Amino acid sequence: MIRTKAYAAQKPSAPLAPWEFDRRDPGDKDVLIDVTHCGICHSDIHQVRDEWGGATFPMVPGHEIVGRVSKVGAKVTRFKVGDLAGVGCMVDSCRDCAPCRKGLEQFCAKGAAFSYNSTEMDRKTPTYGGYSNRIVCDEAFTLRIPAGLDPAGAAPLLCAGITTWSPLRHWKAGKGTRLGVVGLGGLGHMAVKLGAALGCEVTMLSTSPGKEADARRLGAAAFALTKDPETFKKLAGRFDLIIDTISAPHDYNAYLSMVAVDGAMVVVGVPPAPAPVHAFALIGGRKTLAGSLIGGIAETQEMLDFCGKHGIVSDVEVIPMSKVNEAYERTLKADVRYRFVLDTSTI
Ligand SMILES: [Zn+2]
Ligand SMILES: [Zn+2]
Repeated sequence: MIRTKAYAAQKPSAPLAPWEFDRRDPGDKDVLIDVTHCGICHSDIHQVRDEWGGATFPMVPGHEIVGRVSKVGAKVTRFKVGDLAGVGCMVDSCRDCAPCRKGLEQFCAKGAAFSYNSTEMDRKTPTYGGYSNRIVCDEAFTLRIPAGLDPAGAAPLLCAGITTWSPLRHWKAGKGTRLGVVGLGGLGHMAVKLGAALGCEVTMLSTSPGKEADARRLGAAAFALTKDPETFKKLAGRFDLIIDTISAPHDYNAYLSMVAVDGAMVVVGVPPAPAPVHAFALIGGRKTLAGSLIGGIAETQEMLDFCGKHGIVSDVEVIPMSKVNEAYERTLKADVRYRFVLDTSTI
């Protein structure tokens, strides 16, 4: 077994604190990664606090994991020692159901093995995430991080990046697509960068006037203030695609009014309560209201390769592990531009 140092929560109300556990020795198809960086995703906080129910403890969060390969199993073909590698939200799936066969492992009919607060596919062995100094993962679920990308900035691509990339690709965003991005946070800033690099005409839809300069720096061609009711009138029917990253309660109907005929609004944020949608908001314009969850492994690699080609990483604030609890509080206050990344060498 491989002794692993980590930060864990021992129960839902507990702060994260140092903890040690054993990971399995790498099997024939596994790679051992010495983790160097792990992003802090808002969903880490939800799960550590058991806000979605069913959480298991001790919990080692973290699913934006980047590090160096330090050992490979005998049958590993895609990685060698020294490679920069990543692990995202999943470490395995059944690999046999209809979604898995289509490369949609995140929707595995048997339930994917998520990187933490989950189990391996044996449904017994708990999974522990990237707030740790080592991880063992099957090479089929390990991502290649393109050379030239800053490892710290690349870490959030593994969740925030793919969460916004997947709907952009599924709804065929490209040159000339009028894209609205709702909310400039961890997800929103990646949607702007990726959308702009794909050739979309990006409009940032935000409640904070102070974020306009940043939105433009990230690639937005326009900025609109959603606190102003006039914005919704001015931009009625404007967007081919809206990516809605907001997790706070808000009126989907108002945002749908800005979607063009045959356009779509895709939600990737999760407000705490169900939100009413009026049928008229959809039928007047044959509009689609859809959702999207991370992305499959092949699509995640496609996104990383695209980011490698275009030099895209997340805007990050790198912090030592000892500041993780403080970073959680600041994340809840949206006091970060735009992602905290833990320097896991400081565990
Ligand atoms: Zn995440
Ligand atoms: Zn499956």
